[in-house]
Amino acid sequence: MKKRQSMREQDPKIRANNFDEVTLGYTEEEAILEAKRCLHCKNPLCMGGCPVSIDIPGFIKKIAERDFKAAYQVITNRNALPGVTGRVCSQEKQCEGSCIVGIKGEPVAIGNLERFVADWARKNVKEPCELEASCGIKLKHSLEEKESVTHTGDSVSSVKKVAIFGSGPAGLACAGDCAKMGYNVTVFEAWHALGGVLSYGIPIFRLPAEILSSEIEYLKSLGVKFKTNTAIGKTLTLHDLKELGFEAFFVSTGAGAPYSLNIPNEDLSGIYTANDFLTRVTLMNAGNSALVDNPINIGDRALVIGAGDVAMDSARTLRRIGFKTVYIVYRRTEDEVPARHEEMSHAGDEGVIFKFLMTPLEFIGDNAGKLKGVKVAKMVLTDEVDNLGRKMPKQTGESEVIDVDTAVVAIGQSSNPTLAKCLGVTLNKKQHIVIDENMQTSVAGVFAGGDITTGAATVIAAMGAGKAAVRSIVKYLSAK
Ligand SMILES: Cc1cc2nc3c(=O)[nH]c(=O)nc-3n(C[C@H](O)[C@H](O)[C@H](O)COP(=O)(O)OP(=O)(O)OC[C@H]3O[C@@H](n4cnc5c(N)ncnc54)[C@H](O)[C@@H]3O)c2cc1C
Ligand code: SF4
Repeated sequence: MKKRQSMREQDPKIRANNFDEVTLGYTEEEAILEAKRCLHCKNPLCMGGCPVSIDIPGFIKKIAERDFKAAYQVITNRNALPGVTGRVCSQEKQCEGSCIVGIKGEPVAIGNLERFVADWARKNVKEPCELEASCGIKLKHSLEEKESVTHTGDSVSSVKKVAIFGSGPAGLACAGDCAKMGYNVTVFEAWHALGGVLSYGIPIFRLPAEILSSEIEYLKSLGVKFKTNTAIGKTLTLHDLKELGFEAFFVSTGAGAPYSLNIPNEDLSGIYTANDFLTRVTLMNAGNSALVDNPINIGDRALVIGAGDVAMDSARTLRRIGFKTVYIVYRRTEDEVPARHEEMSHAGDEGVIFKFLMTPLEFIGDNAGKLKGVKVAKMVLTDEVDNLGRKMPKQTGESEVIDVDTAVVAIGQSSNPTLAKCLGVTLNKKQHIVIDENMQTSVAGVFAGGDITTGAATVIAAMGAGKAAVRSIVKYLSAK
């Protein structure tokens, strides 16, 4: 079996000082060579690992045949955001984790190929109708699409209006499929920017803004309308939307409420939650004091608490805005790190220093209320395991102080219950919206999916939920 094609990257020393994309994508020849590693299995296990059921061998075959336009069509039949998912999905845990080639060697680089196709289409395909003409496939109201979405053959009215709350991946996936079904779809977004975490969380060196905006343009070309600066529950209520003729609703407002550590002095200046820090840098340029009135104070030494993707993004962003020393403190060992392996190794290559088996005890401030250090406890792993099978850490009794002027807390986020409460839908103990197997909430006509129902999860899981909701929305509207 031929070796997997590796992807070129910016040199770590250079990229640690810029916000350009880290990975550089495949050339056409590299993509074709990689596509030829696929065995086109009769029972493609890779597809079982894809929450949106992309025809993986189908699109890879088209790449091997150098028919990139057809490959794009195959992908976008199931996934309206391939440039995004090709970049940020944990393929190693999903499609690539199940690839047959991976049993004896390295799995086919499905994510890299998906990204290649999306990037090729961005440069070479101007309008969806161009695809329609060249591939002979209808994008709107196609029977294939209708069957894949409804499984029922119900008739679809083109005049019914669907409102989607939140423009993250769950909302965008739901919007794309609803538009393909012929509904009149509007996505309402509280922020001025579209994309949810894709635009204000994941940094542009991993997901450049133009990739997201071009995939949103694709949705617009399918007929989806977007209304920004519109917080449902404040700017408009469910009642207002019903008055405006909307008949079905999908709530995809995400998990934007950060957890706090609940340790002393968390209110010192210089301490940020990861959400706040990343949003300020990515959407508001707060890392550049020349551009904004309220910049982040760039010190010398920063510490990030947590070791998920959000923590890696925070640490790598701190390096890029000018911090010379950036630590990641994690209470377990490298083996239990929840972030993608690629993100962790990129962070290490960019100079981020990992401090394992440590947990913060208290923040220490100076007389002016500014952070000057973090007291951390040293930890050891026990034989006891948590519900994910990871060994539980416990304190050894030893501690030390790490001198830092800035800290970013990245220990997870939960659903923000404000909108859910105002819609009157039932919440569970964790404040997530409760849905049944049809994504239906306790209020008729109101469906929900993504992080607001599960807590912080993944882009592709949110997209899968958005797509699944469309089947129920179709049934609901057809029965009205
Ligand atoms: C920094 C960071 C890095 C991540 N990296 C990865 C990664 O590499 N790979 C991966 O798979 N996952 C990653 N994730 C997780 C992933 O981004 C989320 O699981 C996913 O975005 C959830 O999608 P969603 O559509 O449910 O919600 P979100 O993306 O959170 O979108 C919700 C949207 O709803 C809007 N909203 C909220 N309230 C209202 C309201 N009342 N009215 C209107 N709009 C409202 C919000 O402004 C937001 O735009 C990361 C998360 C973060 C924070
Ligand atoms: S499991 Fe791997 S080899 Fe088989 S079809 Fe999927 S990508 Fe190709």
